[in-house]
Amino acid sequence: MNNQVMTGNCFLCGEELTKIKMKNHVLKSHLSAQKGEKVLLIKVEGAYQKEYWLLLDIAFNAKLVDLDDFLRQIWLECCGHMSGFFPPVDSWGRDEFAMNTKIKAFANGAKLLYRYDFGSTTTLMVTVLDDSMRPPQKDAVRLLARNVPPDIKCVKCGKPAECFCTECDCEHGSENAYYCEECYEIHDCPDKEYTLPITNSPRTCVCGYDGELDIWKFDPAKIKR
Ligand SMILES: [Zn+2]
Ligand SMILES: [Zn+2]
Ligand SMILES: [Zn+2]
Ligand SMILES: [Zn+2]
Repeated sequence: MNNQVMTGNCFLCGEELTKIKMKNHVLKSHLSAQKGEKVLLIKVEGAYQKEYWLLLDIAFNAKLVDLDDFLRQIWLECCGHMSGFFPPVDSWGRDEFAMNTKIKAFANGAKLLYRYDFGSTTTLMVTVLDDSMRPPQKDAVRLLARNVPPDIKCVKCGKPAECFCTECDCEHGSENAYYCEECYEIHDCPDKEYTLPITNSPRTCVCGYDGELDIWKFDPAKIKR
């Protein structure tokens, strides 16, 4: 997966660009320094899976809990695990930021580690890229851009993988557990009860994560031009 170019889609105009170019694109094309409500432009990515990334804008007066809610919906929620924001240095359990900390407390360039589930943990890196203005929005957090789903292949036939067999994962390791639907149906595992869908999330195939709350799949037909 490492040699893939990590492009994403702008959810406001549909443009497909690399992660680096997307920042300049949203600042130039969609955020204005003159009018609207004050926001921070932030990037969120898998701390160890950088192919998963989001660009968001968040109202100045919103709180970390609003970002936590959004991340749970788009990427993380499986069984209501605990979560927290921490300084970017390794400080397990210490120096956790209160969930009611205002977003505007963080300056440009600030980095936060976020952890969801302190057992099978998904770790994210949050980076404040800039401050700007946007037209007033009903929700505190707005999705601006998201990575194109990584190209994960079926271990049997090489077609795009659709499911993850947790029995194969236990027996043969996670890299041997991705299947397309046809190959999944006929592969060796006897029960075929322990399957998870492949999702566009750094929590894909972890715990019981199935992407149920993720309503932000990119759809070019929904872009207003
Ligand atoms: Zn755009
Ligand atoms: Zn879980
Ligand atoms: Zn297959
Ligand atoms: Zn299996």
